[in-house]
Amino acid sequence: MENYIDGTEENFAVFDAIVKAKHVLMGHRKIVVSISGGSDSDIVIDICEKVKGDKKIQYIWFNTGIEYQATKDHLDFLEKKYGVTITRLPPIKPIPNCVREYGVPFLSKNVSEMLSRLQKYGFKFEDKPEEELLQEYPKCKRAVKWWCNTAGKTGKRFNIDYNKHLKDFLIANPPTIPISNKCCIYGKKKPAKEYLKKSDEDLNVYGVRRSEGGTRATAYKECYTHAKRGSIDTFRPIFWLTDNDKKFYEKKNGVTHSACYTKYGLKRTGCVGCPYGKDVEDELKSMKMFEPKLYKACMKIFGASYEYTKQYRQFCVAKKSEEKDNPDQITMNDLFYDFAR
Ligand code: SF4
Repeated sequence: MENYIDGTEENFAVFDAIVKAKHVLMGHRKIVVSISGGSDSDIVIDICEKVKGDKKIQYIWFNTGIEYQATKDHLDFLEKKYGVTITRLPPIKPIPNCVREYGVPFLSKNVSEMLSRLQKYGFKFEDKPEEELLQEYPKCKRAVKWWCNTAGKTGKRFNIDYNKHLKDFLIANPPTIPISNKCCIYGKKKPAKEYLKKSDEDLNVYGVRRSEGGTRATAYKECYTHAKRGSIDTFRPIFWLTDNDKKFYEKKNGVTHSACYTKYGLKRTGCVGCPYGKDVEDELKSMKMFEPKLYKACMKIFGASYEYTKQYRQFCVAKKSEEKDNPDQITMNDLFYDFAR
């Protein structure tokens, strides 16, 4: 194979990714590539530009309504670097509006969805037998099952016990703020769906890596998915790259990441200040220093969720202390089992 990209001869995963990317792009008529401004998408754009040949690629970026200035600046940088246009798409409903209208995200998508369902039916957060609760809340079966730990047929991640001490915490501290997973739906899922519905592209490319973990990565088994009815083919060119492969590629090909990584010291960028993030406290510290206006906005939008999460963490520490089991050893990871963006 022609050596399109430096280093392909030294790293098989990178070599394989390039060969596949070339093959997949050549087999499609019109290609759309989602750019997030994050480090994975920096590699995706680099690969696409290097293997695209005479194919025209439409690059798009979804604005969630709350974004780092560093990300916006990085999009300008990418446009100049590759001589491309990245179309900025507005949100259907900006995240701040979603949160105001429906409620804050708390802990994880699944937890937020279940709590939002329970709140909708005026659930009292009591520890009662499942049959009794199902009679009391007949329209809320799925969330009642989550609450009673009987929802997870295929794995306990769909049960409340997946998050340590969460049930006890909610019984002792029922939520007084509306909780919702809707900002993910309006801020992320719907805009992409709506865009693809209207476009005439036949391949949707984006940067997901299997080794990232989380629901986003584990939702796929392969780097390529054939279109099902009403959708188009999807391709994840860096799906099989590990962190080391990624570093290797970046070094060999001079990939530059946004100031979020190089200056603010963030390890990853997803939605700005998302309360689901296990490193959100560190992110907020950097944000306060480098983008103070954005920090203020985050505190206004998600502050109630940060506070409730803090209460939950303190509750867990107290529980652990009661159990006399290394009370000081609790980490964010203990509490964010199903962290996923
Ligand atoms: S990832 Fe977080 S901030 Fe982003 S849309 Fe989902 S819940 Fe909202």
